[in-house]
Amino acid sequence: MSLREQADVLVRQLKREGIRDLNVLEAIRRTPRERFVPDALRSRAYENTALPIEADQTISQPSIVALMTEALELDGSETVLEIGTGSGYQTAILAQLCDRVVTVERIEELANSARELLTEIGYHNIEYHFGDGAQGYQAGAPYAAIIVTASAAALPQKLVNQLADGGRMVIPVGSEAVQILYRVTRHGDQIHQKELCRCRFVPLITEN
Ligand code: SAH
Repeated sequence: MSLREQADVLVRQLKREGIRDLNVLEAIRRTPRERFVPDALRSRAYENTALPIEADQTISQPSIVALMTEALELDGSETVLEIGTGSGYQTAILAQLCDRVVTVERIEELANSARELLTEIGYHNIEYHFGDGAQGYQAGAPYAAIIVTASAAALPQKLVNQLADGGRMVIPVGSEAVQILYRVTRHGDQIHQKELCRCRFVPLITEN
């Protein structure tokens, strides 16, 4: 099976798992995940599994990428803040579904290689930052959507503060062993938290 055919099989599996947003499914179908994994793992790029990338980090499992992106309920008009650029795969999916992505990564080599790859593939609506994403990125705030792709010990207040009224944030919270993926919505000063599923991410590493 060609990689394109494998991408179709993956998308059918995500549909069966309950992903309904056709824009999300289409973005996953056409994004070349093989470009975001190490060369030695190219043949496994469309397996529905997380895979190791540089610097002991991981590219997230397609199921979780789909679930998190769907939960942001993007209509194409948003600026999305992403914490944990990693391989840049989730960034690429977001870039196709919103107006602009502001992405923050704390490991410089990953930040640089993701920027090079995403620029080469042709995404031009992404702003790249190197630093501690637990602080958010105040200059672009407030954000209609925030996605965190590393697990926080507790909900980072600075990120909540950068969420727009009516904004959505998707974030894994918990210990290294047990984490819950939450969808956090803000209405005025009210914060509403909904559990989406259990998950397993690499830790969000922060000074405070
Ligand atoms: N979305 C990425 C996931 C990468 S794993 C992908 O699918 O490839 C999570 C990433 O979060 C790692 O690259 C890790 O370095 C980064 N990270 C961890 N703590 C961070 C922090 N405080 N600020 C920014 N990035 C962080």
